[in-house]
Formats: sequence, structure tokens, C-alpha cells
Amino acid sequence: MTTLLPDPASAPSQLPVKSGPRTWLRRINSGGQIVETCPAWCTDTHRNDDSGYLDDLQHGAQFNGPQLHIFDAEHGSLPMPVLAGRINVDPYSSDPRRSVPHIHLEPFQDEVMECLTPDEFAEVIAQVRAHCDRLEDVHAQLVKARVEYR
Ligand SMILES: [Zn+2]
Repeated sequence: MTTLLPDPASAPSQLPVKSGPRTWLRRINSGGQIVETCPAWCTDTHRNDDSGYLDDLQHGAQFNGPQLHIFDAEHGSLPMPVLAGRINVDPYSSDPRRSVPHIHLEPFQDEVMECLTPDEFAEVIAQVRAHCDRLEDVHAQLVKARVEYR
């Protein structure tokens, strides 16, 4: 007896069913409309993206950074995020650096390193990691200095 197997191309996926990509109809200010589709990693709400100029659209996902308590004369200290950012894409940008996924990294609040490629982002990560290793050395030096300090 032969069991007919479904054509793999038409068979439903055996992977867990995930809700499909987010799509919506966007009115373009210069005329027409377009169906937009979020990449899987996009967490933007697109609350204000029902209409706009074609190249206004961005997809992205924010990532937080650690909060360092920075001296503040009025409040004693204030939490300040460092190394936060966003993976981003401007799908209709004429700038080839922006029209593919890239990183906007905020080394500290209100300062940004724009449009980092994977290689550029890796370079920043390596720099920060190397500095953290150096800070471990400084920490050991501090502990020793305090023991010796009398
Ligand atoms: Zn999106």
C-alpha cells in the first residue's frame, strides 16, 4: 500500500504557527497607498504610520542599556542609560546605509552613533568589552590601594 504524501511545497508548515507578519495599508501623501509589512523583529507600534510620505516609514526595535547613577547637584544622582539604542531600517531611504537594517547606538543619553553596520557595531562592542576588562584591572588596583592606604 502506498501512502500519498502531500507535496512539500503546498503542505502547511510543521513549525509552530506564528501569527503572520504585521501588515497595514498606508496612505502616501504624494498619492496612492501601499501595503506595508513589518520585518519579524520590528516592535514599533506604527500608531502614526497610517499615512505619510513614502520615505517617512521606519521599522525598529529599541534595546535598553544599563542605568548608571550620575551625579546631579539637585537630586544627588539620576539614573542615566548608557549603550542603549535601536535596530532600525528605513525601507524607502535612498541612502543605502539606511535602507538595510542598521544600529543607532546611544553611548549616553541624547548622543547617537548613527547607521552602524554589523562590522561597525561589532567594533564598538569590542571597544566597550576591552574597556570593561580594563575597568576590572582598575577595580583590582583600587581594592589593593585601599588595603595599603593607612
Ligand atoms: Zn514595523
